[in-house]
Amino acid sequence: MFPNSLLPNLFMEHINFNTNAFTRQLINWYDPSDRQLPWKEEKNPYLVWLSEVLLQQTRVEQGLSYYLRFKEEFPTIIEMAKASEDRIMKLWEGLGYYSRARNMHHTAKYIAFELGGQFPNTIEEIRRLKGVGPYTAAAIASFAFDLPHAVVDGNVYRVLSRVFGIAVPIDTTKGKKIFFDLAQSLIDPKQPGVYNQAIMDFGATVCQPQKPFCKRCPFSDECQAKKENTISLLPRKSKKIKRRERFFHYLVVRYGEQRLIRKRTGKDIWKNLYEFPYFEVPRMGFNQEIIQQNIFWEKVGLKGKVSIDFVSKPFHQLLTHQKIVAVFWEIDALNTPEIEGTDLLLIDKNDLSNFAFPKIIHRYLG
Ligand code: SF4
Repeated sequence: MFPNSLLPNLFMEHINFNTNAFTRQLINWYDPSDRQLPWKEEKNPYLVWLSEVLLQQTRVEQGLSYYLRFKEEFPTIIEMAKASEDRIMKLWEGLGYYSRARNMHHTAKYIAFELGGQFPNTIEEIRRLKGVGPYTAAAIASFAFDLPHAVVDGNVYRVLSRVFGIAVPIDTTKGKKIFFDLAQSLIDPKQPGVYNQAIMDFGATVCQPQKPFCKRCPFSDECQAKKENTISLLPRKSKKIKRRERFFHYLVVRYGEQRLIRKRTGKDIWKNLYEFPYFEVPRMGFNQEIIQQNIFWEKVGLKGKVSIDFVSKPFHQLLTHQKIVAVFWEIDALNTPEIEGTDLLLIDKNDLSNFAFPKIIHRYLG
């Protein structure tokens, strides 16, 4: 339970910590040499955008290697725009949320070919770019162009909800507006990039989700959550994400040194990635009886002339709204697979590494 003083409709009156003081203390705390990251202090809008797109919903440690790889292969937005989508997907492989990769490539082509390579420099224009939401737009505007737009990400929600004792759920329209307005009122207009970097670093290194370092926190005297003993309850969300369970059986068809794969074209999160042909079933209990049925094999042009060599252990992947469980059937085709007129490709097994697969297949391939 939250103390009465934290009830959402009362929260504005509750803020008794001077917002100017918060900004001043935060900037005094900030040391740019802490938490060295290659995109920190970066002013090139293309590289700021690249880092922000790669880091969305990704841990910094994971995003780092992707950033370095993309930057090396595409030092400018023109080079990224000229790349094939398969190449972009391959470099992105393992990062998940593949629509971000497609949007990134779309935006690179738009800026390179329609804006003459000039990155937009107003918040309105930046916001109109495909795949750029309010957070990314504010980051680009403040870091690359020194425009006073506050970022609001998970770190910011956490820090502000705790310091100012705001229990309004962050996944509601009302909550989003309250946090956005508060964040915007706190930004230092003379150094917006420094302020934004400072609050993100503070959330990442001091006011962490679990076990924040309150003893070395510059706000430990003012922090409302600390006073009210509600640190572990903030920030608050109204609903839990429900994940749908899905069960896949991938057919890894081997014909000598060749393997059968296909490209996903349907509109979903794995669009334009490659995969082995698969069956989806309502539950995992999928047995030999079912697999003997011809329909199972006709899908991959095998017409039953196969020999099952191995069935893998289940592999798991957690997506935002789905929980995938997959097993991989390693199958030897005794005759040439009939793939004419299908979307299947027969490729050399050594070429598998040139194709981008969803994470769960990538993990199976090892
Ligand atoms: S006192 Fe603790 S909970 Fe409050 S802002 Fe500082 S680190 Fe976060």
